[in-house]
Amino acid sequence: MIQVLIIGAGPAGLGAAAVLAQAGAQVTVVERQSQAGGVPRLCGHSPFGMREFHRLMTGQTYTHRLIAEAVAAGARILPDHAVTAIESGPTVRVATPQGEITLTPDRILLATGAREASRAERLLPGERPLGIVTTGALQDLWFARKVLPFRRPVILGSELVAMSAILTCRQAGARPLAVIESSDRPVLPAPLCWLPKVLGIPMLCTTRIEDIVAKDGRLCQLVLRNAAGHVTQIDCDGLVLTGSFRPESGLARLCGLEIDPATGGPVVDQSGRTSRPEIFAAGNLLRGIETAGRCWAEGRAVAQALLADLPPAVLEISVRAGQGVRYVMPQRLTPDARVALPALQIRLDRRARGTLTLTDAAGRRLASFQTASAPERRLTISLADLRLQDAVGPLTLAMEQD
Ligand SMILES: Cc1cc2nc3c(=O)[nH]c(=O)nc-3n(C[C@H](O)[C@H](O)[C@H](O)COP(=O)(O)OP(=O)(O)OC[C@H]3O[C@@H](n4cnc5c(N)ncnc54)[C@H](O)[C@@H]3O)c2cc1C
Repeated sequence: MIQVLIIGAGPAGLGAAAVLAQAGAQVTVVERQSQAGGVPRLCGHSPFGMREFHRLMTGQTYTHRLIAEAVAAGARILPDHAVTAIESGPTVRVATPQGEITLTPDRILLATGAREASRAERLLPGERPLGIVTTGALQDLWFARKVLPFRRPVILGSELVAMSAILTCRQAGARPLAVIESSDRPVLPAPLCWLPKVLGIPMLCTTRIEDIVAKDGRLCQLVLRNAAGHVTQIDCDGLVLTGSFRPESGLARLCGLEIDPATGGPVVDQSGRTSRPEIFAAGNLLRGIETAGRCWAEGRAVAQALLADLPPAVLEISVRAGQGVRYVMPQRLTPDARVALPALQIRLDRRARGTLTLTDAAGRRLASFQTASAPERRLTISLADLRLQDAVGPLTLAMEQD
């Protein structure tokens, strides 16, 4: 019986655990937090579960359902178990409340998720007072500990997760004063981006934080500058840093996996296999943020590919992001791989209208289509539509603007 270790008990890891255990694998899921569930565990709001269970659920109800399915299938879930190293073998070192243990599975599935950029990574100017948190930290404080770090925060960013920050603030009794977005319009498309307006929260586009002012160690004012150079102050006691997700790839780097600088996650083929053949990866670790439902489906599909246990492919074509493209994933295509990731997943590096073209090293055009897209919109090219047999690698995906 194949032994599989899944690292990370979010939607991707739990979805994979259910499939693998149902198929008869011996499955252990390790989770460094005190409870399984990943990000949704701390989301007191919906929408979760539409793709998976055809129901609208809160993150917490959804988490209970994912855990119940994995356990019912026979998976063992170990909270408070943090993987600190994956050595050759593979031998996996795990920190537990009882001390370090080592595990020696046949296969590993990495599902360690993504996190929002920290204050330091965003290069914010000014002082470093209390009251500045990411959405994830806010949800941890409020839903897990009933601690609210502010009453009148400002929300930085206008991705989907900013709406989650607004809903969490309102549930907790805080009143957001404004949403700040550096680009000229909300990242989130209509009608979702209307939420702040509906709730009477001003959306300040083309606006940046120029200074963070503190009093007695607490945030008391933000100084803002817009594109026209106009400077304003907002008296507030908190700042929520939303979005700008980065794959949680520290462990992947540590165990020597090839990392794609464009996604920040491990390089994978279309079966989710990384550069170490015994290690697979799925979920937000692969490229930053998608919905929970997509990560769950991806975890399950990669689990199926892992079960097929094909030998590592000999023939590979790499795909890379060219002009105007922020990333493309999977980064390696192998004609004989089991297809868990059936499409190239693409993000542009800026809002653009034009032609997206995939060419091979001989200059042959494999795919080409017109698109108008924003950086956070998901674009895909179905792998089934590509004729890869005669292609000469590497392939390059580039956006030519109209
Ligand atoms: C604030 C917020 C609100 C959101 N709201 C929605 C929503 O309303 N609807 C929706 O569909 N999606 C929503 N999302 C997106 C959704 O939650 C994620 O896409 C989904 O949780 C990703 O699943 P995952 O399994 O890839 O990663 P995660 O859920 O991040 O799980 C990864 C797990 O791996 C664990 N881990 C990491 N490293 C280690 C290690 N070394 N050892 C052991 N364990 C480790 C982490 O502790 C974590 O529990 C939201 C995301 C955020 C941040």
